[in-house]
Amino acid sequence: NADIAMYFSKRMGPNMFSYYQASMNTPTLKRMTIENHLHRAFDGNEFELYYQPQFDLITGTPTGVEALLRWHNRELGEVPPMEFIPMAEDSGMIVAIGEWVMRTACRQAQTWLDRGLPLGRIAINVSSKQFIHPGFVEMMKRILLEIKLPPGLLEIEILEELIRGGAREIIETLNALKQMNIRIAVDDFGSGYSSLACLEETDIDCLKIDSVFVGGISGGKVGRSVVSGIIAMAEEMDMRVIAEGVETKEQAAFLRKKQCQEVQGYLFSRPMSTPQVETFLLNNLGF
Ligand code: C2E
Ligand code: CA
Ligand code: CA
Ligand code: CA
Repeated sequence: NADIAMYFSKRMGPNMFSYYQASMNTPTLKRMTIENHLHRAFDGNEFELYYQPQFDLITGTPTGVEALLRWHNRELGEVPPMEFIPMAEDSGMIVAIGEWVMRTACRQAQTWLDRGLPLGRIAINVSSKQFIHPGFVEMMKRILLEIKLPPGLLEIEILEELIRGGAREIIETLNALKQMNIRIAVDDFGSGYSSLACLEETDIDCLKIDSVFVGGISGGKVGRSVVSGIIAMAEEMDMRVIAEGVETKEQAAFLRKKQCQEVQGYLFSRPMSTPQVETFLLNNLGF
């Protein structure tokens, strides 16, 4: 994932990384400092969810939103998820953080539905560590019992790496989620064609084309053929496709030509805070 991390760090702009300027000079020290703060993040109410709309590429109407975790810390500033999620995975904190994300996003979606906002789906990222945790399916059941959100509106995004080996336990968990009527999207799709075999063993609803490949559309033939290959394959297998990280009109035009159904990216909308996304959904702003 190093190239992906670099891709993001190059593109996120300077303000996302402002805390680099703090007086931390070794990577280890920086990591320890972040970990220390992470342990107290819940007490300080430091987490927030942002929501980035996804759109139908033909009609331009929103089809759903992806919940994206934000961590504001008084000392560190905005720490990007690409920095703190791997640490939370290493320390095991991801299980608690992931449960908070799931509950908060489901509650929010339920509130929006109650108020009649045209929400569409709500997509929630689940880390591989969180997914393989033995209590994961039970946690999902508990939350859906507690919050009466129709599970068909919920789409969990898992990483391609998780299904790559086709492990029995992973397939079983996926099938358990499908039985609960939860939708499954494979995030960051495109780097491992070896994961294709296990797509047949479970009922995946959606492939999200990794932004690295979407970025590659402008780069040349190889990038373009990976993207059109994924779209063709998804169509063949009755899966939706979302291209993410769409930043240019050229990319959108190529995706439209290849009949990609859905898009997500700065070209259409940035991730937004709750009040911002509410205004957005109320006005049902397409592009
Ligand atoms: P992801 O799931 O692939 O999410 C998409 C990331 O791309 C988000 O970054 C989003 O803000 C960014 N993005 C959206 N459109 C564009 C675009 O047009 N150009 C570019 N360059 N970037 C775009 P974010 O919010 O910083 O999240 C980074 C990653 O952190 C996510 O990648 C996901 O892997 C992880 N993450 C975020 N929230 C959560 C969460 O609640 N739980 C877990 N487990 N992981 C999360
Ligand atoms: Ca995602
Ligand atoms: Ca992604
Ligand atoms: Ca990603």
